[in-house]
Amino acid sequence: MGSTTMSPADVKIGPTRLLINGEWQESAGGKTFETINPATEEVIALVADADAADVDRAVAAARRAFDEGPWRKISASERGRLMNKLADLIESNQDDLAALETLDNGKPISESLSADLPLTIACYRYYAGWTDKLHGKTIPINGPYFCYTRHEPVGVCGQIIPWNFPLLMQAWKLGPALAAGCTLVLKPAEQTPLTALRVAELAMEAGFPPGVINVLTGFGPTAGQPLARHMDVDKIAFTGSTEIGHEIMKYSAESNLKSVTLELGGKSPNIVFADTDLDAAAEGAHFALFFNQGQCCCAGSRVFVEHSIHDKFVEKLVEKAKARRVGDPFDRDTQQGPQVDQDQFDKIMGYIEVGKQKGGELLCGGARVGKKGYFVEPTIFDNVSDDAKIAREEIFGPVLCVMPFTDVDEVIRRANDTPYGLAAAVWTRDIEKAHAIANNVRAGTVWVNCYDVFDAAAPFGGFKMSGSGRELGEIGLDAYTESKTVTVSLD
Ligand code: NAP
Ligand code: MG
Repeated sequence: MGSTTMSPADVKIGPTRLLINGEWQESAGGKTFETINPATEEVIALVADADAADVDRAVAAARRAFDEGPWRKISASERGRLMNKLADLIESNQDDLAALETLDNGKPISESLSADLPLTIACYRYYAGWTDKLHGKTIPINGPYFCYTRHEPVGVCGQIIPWNFPLLMQAWKLGPALAAGCTLVLKPAEQTPLTALRVAELAMEAGFPPGVINVLTGFGPTAGQPLARHMDVDKIAFTGSTEIGHEIMKYSAESNLKSVTLELGGKSPNIVFADTDLDAAAEGAHFALFFNQGQCCCAGSRVFVEHSIHDKFVEKLVEKAKARRVGDPFDRDTQQGPQVDQDQFDKIMGYIEVGKQKGGELLCGGARVGKKGYFVEPTIFDNVSDDAKIAREEIFGPVLCVMPFTDVDEVIRRANDTPYGLAAAVWTRDIEKAHAIANNVRAGTVWVNCYDVFDAAAPFGGFKMSGSGRELGEIGLDAYTESKTVTVSLD
């Protein structure tokens, strides 16, 4: 065991109330809920539980800040300066924020520090750079006219995020919205509300005007739903389950047809050809699934392995899974912390039971670790059939399915045999095979000889039921801007 440099008792909790119009407020109903440390099952803090009345107040504040307030009137470069200032403040508080993320979510502190924080800071900086570069075109239409387009902010945005990367998902939402000049109401996941509130506090310190950023902690049905149904919200961005993605579309259809972007689930194929560097591919396949306790929308959960290397490759995978250090997320040597909550733990253990009974051969793992906290052993099933429940449904936990294959066309067909299309990867030294997979697998991202390479400049999002719209990169701004055509008579 390595040295523990910080313990849960040292972590600064930060705000626990709602941020509405630049002020910290109790919820209208005065209710609170508990946020839990998933490593110990102990209560960390009581957090304000927003309901429809709070949504009304927060949307009204965002509406005022957008329609009348300073946000609309300040220059684009000033918006960029504020965003860079927020990034700097997150950076100077990164150790505390990483510890808070680890406390609330359970992810290993080494990963909060090496992945979540740097990616979050980079995302704000990337979008800060876009604020004064969002320009339209002049268009040579027929007749004596001067025609041009303007890219205007879409307006008040509702943003609903999950618990697996709380800081990063907040950055993916706030970054493009603020760059485009929108105002917003963010609802973090009920499991992990704390870092969103702390970042909002830093945003106030950076100098964002009241009402531009509002944060409502609370639950999906009571806070998320009224936000997504609100008539004064112009756009809703959602990341989470495909099931709730369907609901979000309905809320829009049943209210004001607000524009919707969805970042949903996946069952991503990770394809390993015999000609690859087996050690690199085994490390890649291990990381692709087990990173973040398997709680990644793009987790490489279906590992297709070419028959001729199957036994050797699986041996390497099992060795790595057995060596994975599961335990106290505040220990710097820990590689895997607890699942986020009891519900996710139960759901994963349910899938493992189903897998044992039908569909695959359990090679390692399959049990709980310890008696306290939601820890699950790294688990591998081999020879999983394509129609098995564990091969078709998103498990969102440390459960890897190995599926042998023989040729390129076959593996493309099987990789695409899923309602999802978020990500895919291929491991090979053969450039033709790499491109065959990259061009023919229906997924928003394809990694070749790598996995989970994320950058604020590279778009991310899903085909099919993995979502609609893209986040990150220049294209990520599309969802937050309206194009306006202006035609001026020169006659
Ligand atoms: P979820 O219910 O889709 O939650 C995601 C977000 O949506 C949370 O902020 C949630 O609030 C909110 N929400 C829930 N019901 C809502 C509603 N009716 N209207 C508006 N907002 C609503 O996901 P989950 O229950 O946390 O996890 C279930 C499964 O979803 C996981 O097992 C996994 O398969 C998948 N998932 C995917 C991602 C991803 O990155 N794509 C992330 C997390 C989970 P509350 O937290 O208060 O419920
Ligand atoms: Mg929590």
